Amino acid sequence: MPTSSVDFERARPAGGKRSSKRDFIVNVFLRQEGHLSADDLVDLIRKEDHRISRATVYRTLQWMMEAGIARKVDFGEGRFRFEPAYRHPRHFHLICKSCNQSFEFLSSDIEALMEEVASARNFDAKQSVVQIYGTCEDCSTGRPVAPKSGTTTEMIFARDALRMAIATERSGLDFYTRAARLTHDARGRSIFQKLAEEEKEHLGTLEARYKQLLSADPQLESRPTFLFFKGAANGLFSQGAERLSKGVNDQQALMIGIRCERGSHRFFQKYGERFEDSEGKQIFMEFASEEKQHLELLIREYKGLIARKGRRPRKAARTRRA
Ligand SMILES: [Zn+2]
Ligand SMILES: [Zn+2]
Repeated sequence: MPTSSVDFERARPAGGKRSSKRDFIVNVFLRQEGHLSADDLVDLIRKEDHRISRATVYRTLQWMMEAGIARKVDFGEGRFRFEPAYRHPRHFHLICKSCNQSFEFLSSDIEALMEEVASARNFDAKQSVVQIYGTCEDCSTGRPVAPKSGTTTEMIFARDALRMAIATERSGLDFYTRAARLTHDARGRSIFQKLAEEEKEHLGTLEARYKQLLSADPQLESRPTFLFFKGAANGLFSQGAERLSKGVNDQQALMIGIRCERGSHRFFQKYGERFEDSEGKQIFMEFASEEKQHLELLIREYKGLIARKGRRPRKAARTRRA
């Protein structure tokens, strides 16, 4: 699905004059999925309308960068390239030196490591660039380039965001099912059961959304991974579930749940905030807020349990004394 139909009107600077030439250039630019040089864009534009001058294309590119529609990238070729920034998250690149194609990916693990390094050095990081140079699969195997049309990074991003949310939801469901089985406190158990039910329902919603996304592009599942979120993909709850199986009491079970939900909420919130407006961002933000609701519920329960436990021994002591 080309992004050419996007409404970039909102990105137009206040008082900006309506220009059909500019709209045309912006639409051609957004239709491209790759990383164009200014000259590539000039060629594309002039192929369709030779009356548009090189200077107009350059000026429009500059305007698109200021308006947040385009972003400059440097692949070390001695000239800049441009990629869509609108509804397109910041990402890293794999760059093939044989065919000059570039491939995009995102990794929370790399980002976390870079943040750690910068903060250890008290370095105020503004921008990080990760570029992997080499030979792409098509070039090294000599196989023809796989068709890339019919989908956009935005769809692949949404696919990967949904996969992550689904994986987290699944491990959450597993966690709460186990916790409900292990908890002796009746109220604590019913909370875990309730959360398990909720996770099951959310899982169904996410899976339906995933199917719907696939129906827009039957090949979507086989397209290369965009989000490499190893830490999260392993399931934010699986560690908690493992601890449960070692045997814990009600209070500890609730505490493990709180830690899992808090970790999950923070993770999805942090990355969701960082993404440009897109379906992937929406999936992250919605998921973050669901996790927050679970977190708040568990905290309330934890406090309730502590209060109930605090009352019980005193009552027992009185009984004994009587
Ligand atoms: Zn190549
Ligand atoms: Zn890119």
